[in-house]
Amino acid sequence: MDRKGILVVVSGYSGVGKGTLMKELTARYGQYALSVSATTREPREGEADGREYFFKTEEEFEEMIGQGRLIEYARYCDHYYGTPKDYVEEQLSQGRDVILEIEQQGALKVKAKDTDVLMLFVMPPDAQTLVERLRGRDTESEEVIRQRLTQALEESKYVDRYDYMVVNADLDQAVEEVHHLIESQHNMINRNLDFAKQIQTELKDLVG
Ligand code: 5GP
Repeated sequence: MDRKGILVVVSGYSGVGKGTLMKELTARYGQYALSVSATTREPREGEADGREYFFKTEEEFEEMIGQGRLIEYARYCDHYYGTPKDYVEEQLSQGRDVILEIEQQGALKVKAKDTDVLMLFVMPPDAQTLVERLRGRDTESEEVIRQRLTQALEESKYVDRYDYMVVNADLDQAVEEVHHLIESQHNMINRNLDFAKQIQTELKDLVG
């Protein structure tokens, strides 16, 4: 039975651990392709061009917009972030589930364009844990941390646009939850109408 790839959007407040969660998910299960976004923000220590992001100048990014090479893009904390189209389409056509780990404005744009998308939101166990994770990263100033928390408060108003939430308290458990949510999406009847029809035909042949 052929399986079509599912487009999965994963959002969550900055610092909630979505990146780690998605890296672990893709390492554990081969069916997932993680889209690599383009951004104009500076690379953090340890980040490599083409691995965490494609790091672009403002001009380069705007050129990508102009050429229609992005599925969606958004401005977030004074920088552009966007999803290149080619990779996503290619992976979906090969039957892999493609994960877009993107912020909310972009996520809602994807949903508006394509209703057949699974929308997941990663929650921290509580707000204090989020602050501690942001501080623990040690890469951002207090001012940037405050900016990201303000952004989180804004994003919290739109979580009802998502289909499911996953609480990232325990990494291992959160990875399994995301995997099961996507798997159950594959089992939806309306994704399997051809298979259901085939069984129906076999039944007809048996009954005569
Ligand atoms: P960070 O700078 O911490 O890597 O990412 C900041 C935010 O941008 C995160 O919420 C991340 O999910 C989001 N983001 C990363 N790539 C994209 C993208 O391609 N499009 C959009 N809309 N958001 C993105």
